[in-house]
Amino acid sequence: MEDNVKIIGITGGIGSGKSTVSKFINEMGYKVINSDSKAKKLYLENSELKEKLIKEFGGNFYLPDGNINKKFIEEIVFGEDEKSKENLAKLNALVHPLVIQDNIDEIDELVEKGERLIFVESALIFEISMEDAYDYIICVFTPIDITIKRLIERDSTSEEKILKRMKNQMSSEEKKKKADFVINNNTDLNSLKNATEFIIDVIK
Ligand code: ATP
Repeated sequence: MEDNVKIIGITGGIGSGKSTVSKFINEMGYKVINSDSKAKKLYLENSELKEKLIKEFGGNFYLPDGNINKKFIEEIVFGEDEKSKENLAKLNALVHPLVIQDNIDEIDELVEKGERLIFVESALIFEISMEDAYDYIICVFTPIDITIKRLIERDSTSEEKILKRMKNQMSSEEKKKKADFVINNNTDLNSLKNATEFIIDVIK
């Protein structure tokens, strides 16, 4: 990578505010690559991946309308048992390399176009040992009780489901320790915006 190009990772726990921070950064005029929407697009459009997923997990992985069957996937990967852990690892092994390659391709294109500060939003930077691919990593941190309140409001989901998903990721405290910058997102959106702008100014 060229010397004057910086790749910044944005990570954090489930519902910590990664997308909101990414939106603010985007509004500041920077490109933010979203790994989560990349994965969703690949699930729907990459026929080789689709075939492998169906072979591994069965036809129920997709709904008759072609969308992924979220309920089924959550059932087979977010359980407490060994089989769920195995399934999650298998799913990740199929999807993550494709997302990483796609991100690399997009970063190359953006650099070619003259972008010098490029952001990548990814919940799982540390879990998949990708930290060395970034010049800096920003962790968005929100205490669990506030996260739960926000997610119940955003997704009309239950505390139990949120906690179950959180168990499948590294704890947000641990992510916070490993990151270069931490944005504490425990108050309002305006403070989050100010904190984001401050950190981007420092990185610049
Ligand atoms: P996910 O892990 O599901 O991808 P995320 O980390 O991208 O989530 P967001 O979607 O940005 O998190 O935020 C979660 C929810 O909390 C959203 O509804 C968002 O609007 C809300 N939220 C985030 N930060 C704040 C804040 N400071 N004040 C109020 N609401 C907030």
